[in-house]
Amino acid sequence: MTHNNKEMGWNFDNSYARLPESFFESTEPTPVRSPELVILNKPLAKSLGLDVKKLQSEEGIDVFAGNKIPEGALPIAQAYAGHQFGHFTMLGDGRAVLLGEQGTPSGERFDIQLKGSGRTPFSRGGDGRATIGPMLREYIISEAMHALRIPTNRSLSVVTTGESVIRETELPGAILTRVAASHLRIGTFEYVVKWGTVEELRTLADYAIKRHFPDIEENEDRYLSLFQEVIKRQAGLITKWQLVGFIHGVMNTDNMTISGETIDYGPCAFMDDYDPATVFSSIDVQGRYAYQNQPAIGQWNLARFAEALLPLFHEKQDHAVELAQEAHSKFEDLYHSHWLAGMRKKLGIQNEEEQDKSLIEDLLRIMKKHGADFTNTFRALTLDKPEDTAMNGTTEFTHWYEQWQARLDRQEEPKPSSYKLMKNSNPAVIPRNHRVEEALEAAVEKGDYSVMEQLIEVLSNPYAYSPEQEEYTNLPEPSNRPYRTFCGT
Ligand code: AMP
Ligand code: MG
Repeated sequence: MTHNNKEMGWNFDNSYARLPESFFESTEPTPVRSPELVILNKPLAKSLGLDVKKLQSEEGIDVFAGNKIPEGALPIAQAYAGHQFGHFTMLGDGRAVLLGEQGTPSGERFDIQLKGSGRTPFSRGGDGRATIGPMLREYIISEAMHALRIPTNRSLSVVTTGESVIRETELPGAILTRVAASHLRIGTFEYVVKWGTVEELRTLADYAIKRHFPDIEENEDRYLSLFQEVIKRQAGLITKWQLVGFIHGVMNTDNMTISGETIDYGPCAFMDDYDPATVFSSIDVQGRYAYQNQPAIGQWNLARFAEALLPLFHEKQDHAVELAQEAHSKFEDLYHSHWLAGMRKKLGIQNEEEQDKSLIEDLLRIMKKHGADFTNTFRALTLDKPEDTAMNGTTEFTHWYEQWQARLDRQEEPKPSSYKLMKNSNPAVIPRNHRVEEALEAAVEKGDYSVMEQLIEVLSNPYAYSPEQEEYTNLPEPSNRPYRTFCGT
């Protein structure tokens, strides 16, 4: 079923499929009955060198549905393992197929993956399928993350399959086309360590270096450099999550990329009122992946990465462990300095003072005490409307506000430049849970995609502070049921 559709702009290479064959299984997507295009990311399609008009034709949609394989693609399911909630497991793409790597007009390389495209040799008991709600949810949130300038895999399209999928009820099947710098995960390395040879591990590490860190290719100790670079990217990424109140929800090592992109939008959600213990995922009963734990979990995952890379660090294990520990211990300082720098920006602070940390921590403490909304608090400060915060009128907030204003007065930069910096650092809008749910309900229950399209439009420019964003800053109606999210589905 290979199809000559070069005119669509597909320009595949398959470097991953040239790696040792134990790294993947050749697998074709399972064709579906009657695919329909629900949403297409036109700007992304263009940047990938794809023809937007042709992608929307029957042939174009057949590619997104897995009914036709574009010329040059070599579909595979990738093997990987991972620590899930702390326990090692064998996984692999159980409901996704990598078509290949798209070469873009600007010379970049992106994985093109169909998610929900049918069973693979890694499916175990699963049906290999996905349902419309979660695929649209991934589309909305991943694109919102991109607009928030947070590294992430992106969403090119969602098609419905015309087939139903059995979950708790029968739901419409759907396939998401995911675009990623790569799908290399910590779990990919864990897989090779468990079932492969040291030579295969070296091959994988060399591949990761070539693909994501070409600058370190010539380093004598390039595998240690690889570890250090991934630490840097993940510290940067997790800081960005914390600064916008994003809770990933399932930070298993298979969901942590080598590229430093956010991946796996299952149970993630944004926090409303500031509470560091916030957890949304229905299965995370211990709160392992709570907001406040994300940096430490990131570091824990990186320790699993170090363990995987040990044989490449040094032939003497003791020495390898020493090198790993030294590099690994840098994560904490890196994270804290990124976080402090990011929080300073959120408060318009442009130089450094020793007391900045306690000024920031004081604000967070007061926010928590009064159940202040995370995004809207920083938005209100940005707009110089402290009266709009939930803490307004309390002595402690009034005191804090005075301290903060005095702090801004102590720097050379004039106040307007601080407020400008804040506008650029505090999103006015985020994908609020009730807005996402409303958009999904209209789409799934009524086939009305306009609510979702409007939401995506508003979220595409979160630092705009435009009038049409105003109503998207409203908080949900108070509810006595906490918001819950789900994996997989
Ligand atoms: P995730 O929660 O999406 O990270 O998935 C964890 C593992 O379960 C991965 O190996 C997936 O490929 C697999 N998986 C999730 N849903 C399905 C499904 N419907 N059919 C087969 N495998 C699945
Ligand atoms: Mg996953």
